[in-house]
Amino acid sequence: MTQHPGSPAGLSDPHDLDLFEFARSGRQAAGVVRVSQLPRMLNEVPAEAPDRDTAFTWQAEGTTQPELQDDGTEGPQPYLRLAIHGATWLECQRCMTPYLQAFDVDATYRIVNTEAEAEEFPLDEDEVEVIVGSRQFDLIDLIEDELLLSLPVVPKHEVCPEVHESLVSGVAGAEGEGDEAESDEAEEGGEPERPNPFAALESLKRGEPDDKKH
Ligand SMILES: [Zn+2]
Repeated sequence: MTQHPGSPAGLSDPHDLDLFEFARSGRQAAGVVRVSQLPRMLNEVPAEAPDRDTAFTWQAEGTTQPELQDDGTEGPQPYLRLAIHGATWLECQRCMTPYLQAFDVDATYRIVNTEAEAEEFPLDEDEVEVIVGSRQFDLIDLIEDELLLSLPVVPKHEVCPEVHESLVSGVAGAEGEGDEAESDEAEEGGEPERPNPFAALESLKRGEPDDKKH
């Protein structure tokens, strides 16, 4: 990493950003933020994770769109687009071991002036979120909010590394078939020698029916 989180490109301090000016001027910024800088995200990372301080890259872009304002005139409506990419360790809720969860966020926000204005905005447009802008806007806080919203409802491996259960059931199945073979031999008055269940499994795998021996 050559980019220091404290000095992201094109932006003095992502914790203290004039969001209205950023949008009006169509500015762009990018940076790297580590999980250790995001205390609420860090809470989600299990203590036994191989790396508790993974990094996220982010890109922000300010834009405006001409829209009809409350006073009936058309004016520039500020927007912010934010992309976040990276991964963090979470605890799998199935096997309770850490796994690496990837994040790919691409969000667009309509920037409004007040909470009241944010509540007025119709929420039927799924792809656009609403944020209250500020002249001292904390972009890193917004990045953390967005990551927390992107957390899986139930964090888990796609496929857990633990395979104990399937191994156990596999052995149980082979023993079951072995028992059948034993009882057949007993009826025919064969040797009292108990066949090794694993040997029986091997012959089943090779597709050798027991009948061949008789
Ligand atoms: Zn798992």
